[in-house]
Amino acid sequence: MNRRQFQKLFWQGAGPCALEANWKLGLGLGLGSGLAWSSMAQKAQAASSARVVIVGAGFGGATLAKYLRILSNHQVQVTLIESQKSFISSPMSNLVLGANATMAQIEFSYDALRTRHGVKWIEDRATEIDFSKKVIHCLQQKSIAYDKLILAPGMKMLIEDIEGLKEAKARQQIFQAWGPEREIPLLQAQIAGMQNGQTFVLGIPESPFKCPPGPYERASQVASYFKKHKPQCKVLILDANQDVLSNSASFKRFWAQNYPTIIDYRPQHMVTSVDANRKTIGFEIQDDVSYDVANILPPMRAGDIAHQNGLTNINNKWCGVDFSNFESQKAKDVHLLGDAIQGAPLMPKSAHMANSQAKILASILVAELFDWPADPAAFLTNTCYSFLDDQNAVHIASVHQYDKLERTYKVIPQSSGISLQPSELEGVEAHAWAKHIWADTLS
Ligand SMILES: Cc1cc2nc3c(=O)[nH]c(=O)nc-3n(C[C@H](O)[C@H](O)[C@H](O)COP(=O)(O)OP(=O)(O)OC[C@H]3O[C@@H](n4cnc5c(N)ncnc54)[C@H](O)[C@@H]3O)c2cc1C
Repeated sequence: MNRRQFQKLFWQGAGPCALEANWKLGLGLGLGSGLAWSSMAQKAQAASSARVVIVGAGFGGATLAKYLRILSNHQVQVTLIESQKSFISSPMSNLVLGANATMAQIEFSYDALRTRHGVKWIEDRATEIDFSKKVIHCLQQKSIAYDKLILAPGMKMLIEDIEGLKEAKARQQIFQAWGPEREIPLLQAQIAGMQNGQTFVLGIPESPFKCPPGPYERASQVASYFKKHKPQCKVLILDANQDVLSNSASFKRFWAQNYPTIIDYRPQHMVTSVDANRKTIGFEIQDDVSYDVANILPPMRAGDIAHQNGLTNINNKWCGVDFSNFESQKAKDVHLLGDAIQGAPLMPKSAHMANSQAKILASILVAELFDWPADPAAFLTNTCYSFLDDQNAVHIASVHQYDKLERTYKVIPQSSGISLQPSELEGVEAHAWAKHIWADTLS
């Protein structure tokens, strides 16, 4: 069997999941036909001695670690550096604020990645990369050498960009609760402690930020909690954008029908300052507003490890990548994925997208290490669900395909979908989606 025949058989499987089967197929063909077995064995040996290091075990990095192990038949050694002890899911975290889920339902152990998949774990914070020596340094552990480095650090919130916010956060007066840190219970306690008739203010930065529909889902969840427990309370949404960024018609219709006296939506309101002692919020143009509990989301950029090591070459905020293999535009053998990258057109910053990118990148890296062909027209998928109360949800979905000529991902025409209206059925599907992606990422 020649290389062309091998490749033809290889591509009879579809997508990255076929690589695992192709691994076995490749070995079987090699053994059965005597085809360059020693060369394949040499490649396998080289691949298993390659040092693959990942920073960040969110939806991107954790999925990548797992699939690198699976697709390489556990040959490739994977080291993962993560600063958090456990995985806290941002998807479904808004339901905790609405008292429609508990923290226990969104927090998971990393154990399966270590014990079941054999990922080498370093609990530490990566700080500095020496690209020429191919070494990464951490706060505790110095000098971890890599052949391939993958950064999946998610986003950093630029709290200094809003006057007074850093101080308010340091004094535990205002929380963001918009990342893997343990802030959801703190914000939940503030909401639970509100008196009937008080005002919760949600400040939304200009796009792009993590999870475009997320703030509108959060406002809906807090409103659903108020409607049940403190009906005189208000949710004031101060949005720096022109309009609701996702499922706009559904959100606005649902709010008008279900929370007419609770939600007050104000577009084009960019928060520029907070005074946590006077409990006021300032803007560039409009008059100050008062609040009782504030949840101010500042502008965002790629995580520090990418930014501080010179990889945020797009607007000094996001990491530009070569979409054929997600390699950094600035550093060789350094790949990036998830929220930290400058997405292709219409590519959202979401858990589903980070998970999807991770599986494609795992297949590309395994193919490269074993000298197999990579998928020339890979697909990425995305679906984001948002709950508007305890049961009704909406979704937005898209399919993106790599375009070899333009070297980017493009949305496949007619592939996108958006809910016409919220429904309980979509609520059931949203719970199923969450269970599936948690299992796919972590177990
Ligand atoms: C409220 C909310 C709701 C959301 N809902 C949805 C939803 O319904 N559907 C959806 O698809 N998406 C949703 N998202 C978006 C989703 O959570 C993110 O897009 C996704 O988590 C991005 O994955 P990531 O791997 O790029 O980054 P993250 O998941 O943020 O993971 C980054 C990881 O890297 C670690 N890290 C960072 N820097 C270092 C370092 N230097 N050293 C060691 N470790 C480091 C962090 O601790 C973290 O664990 C939501 C987000 C929010 C905030």
